[in-house]
Amino acid sequence: MSTPRDEVRGPAIVEGALPSAVDLVIIGGGIAGAASAFFAARAGLQVLVIERRNEIASLTTAAATGAFRLQHDNAEELALVREGVDLYLNFAERTGLDDWDLGIRQQGYLFCSRTDASAAKARDLVELQRGFGLDDVELLSGDEARARWPFLAPSIVQARFRAGDGFIDQVALARGYAAASSRASQIPGATGSGHAQYALSVEVTGFLRGESGAITGVETSRGGVHAPAVMIAAGPWSGNVAALAGLTLPIAPTIRQKLVIPNLPVIDQAGPMTIDDETGSHWRPAGAGCYALRTDPATPAGPPLLKVPTDDRYAHALLDPASPSALALLAPFWRDVWSAGLPAWHLAAGQYEYTPDHRPFIGATEVAGLFVNTGYSGHGVMCSGGGARRAIDLLLGRTDQRTEPFRVDRPMHERARDVL
Ligand SMILES: Cc1cc2nc3c(=O)[nH]c(=O)nc-3n(C[C@H](O)[C@H](O)[C@H](O)COP(=O)(O)OP(=O)(O)OC[C@H]3O[C@@H](n4cnc5c(N)ncnc54)[C@H](O)[C@@H]3O)c2cc1C
Repeated sequence: MSTPRDEVRGPAIVEGALPSAVDLVIIGGGIAGAASAFFAARAGLQVLVIERRNEIASLTTAAATGAFRLQHDNAEELALVREGVDLYLNFAERTGLDDWDLGIRQQGYLFCSRTDASAAKARDLVELQRGFGLDDVELLSGDEARARWPFLAPSIVQARFRAGDGFIDQVALARGYAAASSRASQIPGATGSGHAQYALSVEVTGFLRGESGAITGVETSRGGVHAPAVMIAAGPWSGNVAALAGLTLPIAPTIRQKLVIPNLPVIDQAGPMTIDDETGSHWRPAGAGCYALRTDPATPAGPPLLKVPTDDRYAHALLDPASPSALALLAPFWRDVWSAGLPAWHLAAGQYEYTPDHRPFIGATEVAGLFVNTGYSGHGVMCSGGGARRAIDLLLGRTDQRTEPFRVDRPMHERARDVL
């Protein structure tokens, strides 16, 4: 499904020695780093993206479900996703990559309430969203929802649905940003002679600093690189990387798994992402089967990991009809899937990069020359376009750091974990 890396269409890979100096070093070649490189190269900067793995978009980004939604509970994140979706839907035109397939499927997000209490909360949320100008979320009774999606359980009392939400191939998106950033002269509206290169299997191990203490570059496993600006986009590793510069960045890596069932004919491939408001359990069509997930609020944060372990109990908590988080509570066909004998399945895992208020860190830090674009708290695919555009505008002084809602030094209130 994803676009393969190749000589012609892939990113420009640095072979051998790293460049001695560039305008901007980006630490991390996940979707946040690649999207940042795209906007920086478009703005005329010479960029070096440094990725410790041997492939871009291969850590957290690869594990994602690739889903996007405008149905958020705050206007700021909604704006980030709205800007991103506009970019994804017009990707060829905006990037100059003619036929890049992002696998976009706008099949909607369907949140289902099984109790009156969560139905009341959902109504309040839709009201709030209408206040943000999001006026295309439908509130449906249980019967109206079942008339449209007959697989839904009789116990569902209400549903909220937005048809424009959907899924994207997030690895293809990250590779698209990277490919376009490496041929920035072809990006419509590009200024200057920007260009991005990607150094793979290279780890940033420290920072170069000037007499004033300002960052002047990075130390890596393949030597130093000078740059007046360095951006941390290291996903769950961002806190550790920031610590190398003496900066405290509160990121709490938290394991999140994805159950992949490659072939399951009972799944309606034209159907929506279907979510249980009570448990957070959900699935979305993928391949000839589905991805199924659930955020367990009890999962503790831990250190960032290079290889994220999976646990079969996660799959059983979704599939076993006796489980309190069973998908069968949402749609009875899951009971039949269990009793017929499970089809082939496997688990993938990554880490959510939670900040205390579950909103990203974007922009300058207290360390001169050091910028961040990270901490997306599980929303980094859908927010990548809007977040990276902001990060580069802030870095270039095009927008004011003091009014940036996602600035690192904003007042933060701990937030309960969302179901997604
Ligand atoms: C199971 C799961 C499902 C998800 N589903 C969705 C979804 O449906 N929609 C959505 O929007 N988001 C989703 N997310 C969240 C999304 O995947 C992340 O927010 C996003 O991928 C983060 O991208 P990133 O570039 O910040 O981090 P990463 O993809 O982790 O990239 C960071 C990179 O930095 C590199 N790095 C770290 N340290 C160094 C160093 N010292 N030197 C060099 N390189 C370094 C790493 O190797 C890594 O490749 C999901 C996440 C998970 C785990």
